[in-house]
Amino acid sequence: AALAASAVSAAAGCASTADDVVNAVKPPDRGTVGISMPTKKQTRWIADGENMVKQFTLLGYKTTLEFSEDSVQDQVTKLDGMIGAGVKALLIGAVDGSALTQVLAKAAAAKIPTIAYDRLIRDTGDLSYYATFDNFKVGVLQANAIVDFLGLATPGGRPVTVEIFAGSPDDNNATVFYNGAMSVLRPYIAAGRLLVRSGETTFDQVATKGWDGAKAKTRMARILAAGYPTVVLDGVLAPNDGIARGILEALTEAGYGTPAKKLPVLTGQDAELESVKLIAKGQQTQTVYKDTRELAKVAVQMTNALLTGGEPRINDTTQYNNGVKTVPTFLLQPVNVDKNNYRRVLVDGGYYKAAEIDG
Ligand code: BGC
Repeated sequence: AALAASAVSAAAGCASTADDVVNAVKPPDRGTVGISMPTKKQTRWIADGENMVKQFTLLGYKTTLEFSEDSVQDQVTKLDGMIGAGVKALLIGAVDGSALTQVLAKAAAAKIPTIAYDRLIRDTGDLSYYATFDNFKVGVLQANAIVDFLGLATPGGRPVTVEIFAGSPDDNNATVFYNGAMSVLRPYIAAGRLLVRSGETTFDQVATKGWDGAKAKTRMARILAAGYPTVVLDGVLAPNDGIARGILEALTEAGYGTPAKKLPVLTGQDAELESVKLIAKGQQTQTVYKDTRELAKVAVQMTNALLTGGEPRINDTTQYNNGVKTVPTFLLQPVNVDKNNYRRVLVDGGYYKAAEIDG
């Protein structure tokens, strides 16, 4: 209505051409926004990218959406290209959170604001905002699933065996997930209630470079062969669904998944369709659902506010220091999903159709 009114008043003032009137009632052309996602290996990033494109388009922006298949060099090259093409803003899910200092300096020199998407970008003052989920809470939810499904909170139970996996060391989130999970598990380990027979518990020992499910499978197989020849493994902390599925393969190949040798409690993250099917079948215990539609909405609104002279909405100004500054952040809430609630959360919530999960 505001646009139409200004078109009318422009026409009434007789200072405008017919073209001006037509332009005034068209949706505004706000220029192009650059979206750089780390990879297509996890399906979530494809959804993240597409959701942002949809929402930017509705607001009158054009978009350039690129994926980098976990290659730092590819991501830097593509970001350089976007800066050269004069994008109005950059939204980045970093492959390596510590490798973008220089390219972000270029963006800043060209007055292009940058928003870190899902993963914090480190070692730079040239980052305007951060949109993500409460990553510490993600780890807490994963560890809580281990505590709940193994009955650890009940005093006097037998010690149980657990192995621990974390995500990629170049992804800032991986440490935060790990810290969240260990904040819950550490007291049980200290009390002798949780035994990690491999002895591998530090982040460096349990990290999985590139979030690579195949690497996790290899590590799980090695640990099973060395530490569990007769003892049964009761639980595995897996940081996301891709890694959980790699671990599940190693477990199955080692004879787990029979009535005599039940699969361990196994966590995950992302509510990927393949893993939700495994939850329905009882092969993966848990995942953490992060509604990428909501994250895209937050990031798009932040960008639009920045570009139209508004104030982006944030709800955290303390948790995410990137080494140079504490980055104003909007944190969304992750949701625990297991066999008891996956239908209500994911099907009733419109994320998947029942037939996709059961089919
Ligand atoms: C994301 C997870 C994802 C992982 C691997 C993390 O930064 O937060 O959702 O599973 O990267 O792509």
